[in-house]
Amino acid sequence: MEKNSTYEHLIKTIDDHREDLVDLRLQLGNTPSPHAQEKKLGDAVLEWLTRHGIKGDLQFITEQSVNAVATIPGTANGKSLIWNAHMDTGPELGPDANDDEKKLETAWVEREMLLGKGMINDKAQLCAFMIAMRAIKDAGVKLKGDLTLTAVAFETGNPSIGQFQGVNYPGEGFGTKWVVDRGVVADYALVGETSGFGIVQAECGAAWIKVRVKGREVYTPRLERGSSIQENPNVFAKAAYVIQALEEWLPHDTDAWFCLRMQCVHIRFNGPFHTRCIQTIVTSNDLEQQGGIGDVTAKRSDVVQRRR
Ligand SMILES: [Zn+2]
Repeated sequence: MEKNSTYEHLIKTIDDHREDLVDLRLQLGNTPSPHAQEKKLGDAVLEWLTRHGIKGDLQFITEQSVNAVATIPGTANGKSLIWNAHMDTGPELGPDANDDEKKLETAWVEREMLLGKGMINDKAQLCAFMIAMRAIKDAGVKLKGDLTLTAVAFETGNPSIGQFQGVNYPGEGFGTKWVVDRGVVADYALVGETSGFGIVQAECGAAWIKVRVKGREVYTPRLERGSSIQENPNVFAKAAYVIQALEEWLPHDTDAWFCLRMQCVHIRFNGPFHTRCIQTIVTSNDLEQQGGIGDVTAKRSDVVQRRR
């Protein structure tokens, strides 16, 4: 590759300030940012960028859920680029979380390794973009097109299904969609994600599919299971059959550069119960019984990236 002095300078600047990158990752990695509560982190991102002469704004999705968007404007009519990383780290831990689970949400250093969910997914990537932006700004590089950082909310999170409704259940990728829907677009985008340290051409996509399985509760002494699953009136027996069929529907692995995967992530009994027999089955299967329809929610991950 032809030597480019500006590029060499930028790389050297970044290398010379490795500690800044580590410090920033520890700072942001230890700023809690479960989905729907990214504001504190968004403020910290913009505060750091502003300190280094890069302007940005928060986009409010709710009072506590935000995207942070900052731009180094281009000086000519060149191609524009977005650097995208997500600020949310997943759901907030429940009150029963143990110390290990709490630690995993944070970020820490062990020898040469940076560890923690607060680091890997996805704030380390966000920090790398921020440090690179600062290097470009400090070097006085005149970019031809806009360089925009989109630090987004709601990359994680469940979609609105069943009783889980409202803006806090928007489904994965909502923050980025929010950004794009509001006109923050570019010719190209580079998305920083957990990719096993590989450069990948596609990232995971996901489709959530709700399968409704109907069954019928029968007075137990008169229960006839029949000779096939179709004849069995029990909704749980039918749902178990459906889950197995879904698991066989997609192969676990292929030789293709991408593969499809599927898992059942939620099962809910939704119907009245009248007999202890049903209640026992519900409990022993750890199913939430609510009110005789069972919903099986399957998540099909459309693309799983592979290192190339
Ligand atoms: Zn991620």
